[in-house]
Amino acid sequence: MWTRWWLWPLVAVCTADFFRDEAERIMRDSPVIDGHNDLPWQLLRMFNNRLQDARANLTTLADTHTNIPKLRAGFVGGQFWSVYTPCDTQNQDAVRRTLEQIDVVHRMCQMYPETFLYVTSSAGIRQAFQEGKVASLIGVEGGHSIDSSLGVLRALYQLGMRYLTLTHNCNTPWADNWLVDTGDSKPQSQGLSPFGQRVVKELNRLGVLIDLAHVSVATMKATLQLSRAPVIFSHSSAYSVCASRRNVPDDVLRLVKQTDSLVMVNFYNNYISCTNKANLSQVADHLDHIKEVAGARAVGFGGDFDGVPRVPEGLEDVSKYPDLIAELLRRNWTEAEVKGALANNLLRVFEAVEQLVPSVSRLGTCMACRPQVFSHEKSFNPSLKIILTTLNPHQCPERQHLNCHPRNVPASQSPSRVPVTDLSRGGWEGARPTLEGWEFRQEVTRRQEAELEPPRGADPHPGVQADPKLHPSGPSLSGKPLELRGL
Ligand SMILES: [Zn+2]
Repeated sequence: MWTRWWLWPLVAVCTADFFRDEAERIMRDSPVIDGHNDLPWQLLRMFNNRLQDARANLTTLADTHTNIPKLRAGFVGGQFWSVYTPCDTQNQDAVRRTLEQIDVVHRMCQMYPETFLYVTSSAGIRQAFQEGKVASLIGVEGGHSIDSSLGVLRALYQLGMRYLTLTHNCNTPWADNWLVDTGDSKPQSQGLSPFGQRVVKELNRLGVLIDLAHVSVATMKATLQLSRAPVIFSHSSAYSVCASRRNVPDDVLRLVKQTDSLVMVNFYNNYISCTNKANLSQVADHLDHIKEVAGARAVGFGGDFDGVPRVPEGLEDVSKYPDLIAELLRRNWTEAEVKGALANNLLRVFEAVEQLVPSVSRLGTCMACRPQVFSHEKSFNPSLKIILTTLNPHQCPERQHLNCHPRNVPASQSPSRVPVTDLSRGGWEGARPTLEGWEFRQEVTRRQEAELEPPRGADPHPGVQADPKLHPSGPSLSGKPLELRGL
């Protein structure tokens, strides 16, 4: 009976419904974590970050790819919100503008607590999944946001940055961007300069994901070689499918496979089809290709919604994710492969990055987030307890699992058992139990810096202060009209 021609449309409709239903079933259990969304940029452009403006209501917000009903319909369970400031703020007011965008993400989460849960860890993402909220993370898009300062980088980490895109569409003084590969920018660092290598090491040390979207191929390769943990491309597609230099070439995809890294596919038409028009099926072609070359563990989604002017037919906004998942199922992706692309691959990479963090860095975060976890450590030095309990106990429930919990600090590393004279080892091991609070903090900082500092005179880049050579003075861009971003 299936050969009767008049039944074919009915079969097609039923099959389509089957895959769509399957997609929804899978996504109820494993919602999508998207690597890059520029809603914060739209909030700046449209409302100057005034979230109280009636038109900025995220429940009714129109003319954007993203609002709360669309996030719900799309089963979006995790989102790296892009914190972005244009390249022409480099060496000018990039840091201030970056802080303002971080602020708007924080305020957005505070204004809609029933929808967003601000998190800074893989455990936090899992918690948001359980609560049926959108895990909201901060990705800083462009190395110019750190103003060539490891101090700024560390401060951004404290404010929630969990990935840093090494460049946007401009070189930083320490990393080359993708326009080097088109001939529109001059190569300056041949990938990463020595200071750029320090940035990568510091991101590893802090537990911040390294994002290679927007960088040159030389920067991709140098970073993949140097990083001690897998990296991500938060919004990049496959060069072999669409020959845009913003996409990832196959030789780099093979490095992605070797390093267990992740490519989160960008939906921008011009990176999907290399023309102004594209459709959902062509996006799936990119996903298929990355899976074929780098493996299913290397695939993710980074739609670039609200950061691009044109998106594919069938993927008009964030509500359309289930349609893309249905297409992958139609192409014989297994449920495990689909779940990997939705969330598990990102969680795997994030956990690998988190596992690099030595206990001293965890201590820093723990002190800010959960000072009370230390209060029942009987052998803990009383003077240290004073510091810990006077720090601002920010809400940070997802941090309860941290290694710095006293239960996780081996007895041999407990501060009270460390010889006073032993400052040769890192982390807890060097903490002098007899030091007063302020002194202790200075000691920890000094030893962190010592890890980073090369011998005197060997390297012109100081570990904490910005290098004056990288900071030509320039006027503030305050008051300058906002321009639409480059892509
Ligand atoms: Zn971008």
